[in-house]
Amino acid sequence: MKEILKNNKKFYQCQECGLVYADKETAEKCQAWCIEHRSCNLEIIKHAEKNFNF
Ligand SMILES: [Zn+2]
Repeated sequence: MKEILKNNKKFYQCQECGLVYADKETAEKCQAWCIEHRSCNLEIIKHAEKNFNF
């Protein structure tokens, strides 16, 4: 999991699927799921930051 600082706010990126989350716990869940299942969990990715621009 990667921390991203944007506009003085911290975001967390799942290194497997690349989705970005505002909350670390959800990003950790996403990454754990992605590694184990090699797919995304809709219940998790719905919390992802949409249209996140790097
Ligand atoms: Zn993921």
